Amino acid sequence: MSLPKNGEPDNDNGHYISMENFRRCLEFLKRSGEKKLKLLGGEPTAHPEFIKLVSTGLAEGFHVSVFSNGIWSSAVRSFFKEEKTASVDFLINVNERSIQKERETVLQEKSLAVVGRRARLSFNIYNDDFDLLFAGDLIEKFALKKEIRLGLAHPVVGAENAYPADTSLNAMGKRLVTQMRQLERRDILSAFDCGFPLCMFDEADYAALITCTTGFISICEPIIDVGADLSVWPCFPLTKVANTTLDAFPDRSSMVEAYEKTMAPLRQMGSMDECIDCKYMKRGQCCGGCVGRTIRNWEKSGAKNIASRIKAPVS
Ligand code: SF4
Ligand code: SF4
Repeated sequence: MSLPKNGEPDNDNGHYISMENFRRCLEFLKRSGEKKLKLLGGEPTAHPEFIKLVSTGLAEGFHVSVFSNGIWSSAVRSFFKEEKTASVDFLINVNERSIQKERETVLQEKSLAVVGRRARLSFNIYNDDFDLLFAGDLIEKFALKKEIRLGLAHPVVGAENAYPADTSLNAMGKRLVTQMRQLERRDILSAFDCGFPLCMFDEADYAALITCTTGFISICEPIIDVGADLSVWPCFPLTKVANTTLDAFPDRSSMVEAYEKTMAPLRQMGSMDECIDCKYMKRGQCCGGCVGRTIRNWEKSGAKNIASRIKAPVS
């Protein structure tokens, strides 16, 4: 469930999620047999009733996960010190210290001190001189879970955002493997999020994809986001693609299945020219990169209004 970003609405349609809509999400999850409630944004802790949302989720028997930047108010920090929130886990997104304001770093580290082993760090790779080794220092300093989630920034359809050029990916893969090896020597494993192309890595580095990670897999599998107004989209880069609403489906599995059908033809093309006859794609060893990249590359080649031609899935 996607909550607001930095105090702003989470997308063009939404505002802060109301308690009524939040309860409808919980009912949908219960109907779907889901035990996990994932709160993300934007920044979910910016919601004025964030503590009430988490408390309600816990009282309804959900295991709550919070995806946050960790820059919290003292009220939120105090809340997560309470015994009743001990089961909540966290994915804390961190940026290199050079691009973060000092005050934000101070607040983030106060939060890391509170959540300790309940938190995993998350680092998004979007430029070719990234350095994620500072994350290893944070993990050790605050005794966090010894695992770091790695995200590759993908083009967001219909928006401008920073993401690596196709031509930079291989050099970034080499740099990433070097840093993953350094983290592994400190017992910290890397965990890949979706959309990493296999050709980003040299064959000589494949062993590191096993020994330094929780298990590499090149995958495109929409998790489904729900906005404050109960609009639904497949994943962040596709926020404005194939939108539907929570009410349009009886449960999550039917929604995922419908999105899988919608996205399958796009996936088969792959995100780069080389994907068309790539053996890794044919054998299901690579997802072909993010569909956001596929659409962006088509648009660069002159195709128009791709996003609007992708029909919303129906139940
Ligand atoms: S399109 Fe696929 S790879 Fe890209 S973010 Fe969505 S699920 Fe992940
Ligand atoms: S399918 Fe495409 S992205 Fe994947 S390895 Fe082959 S060329 Fe690279």
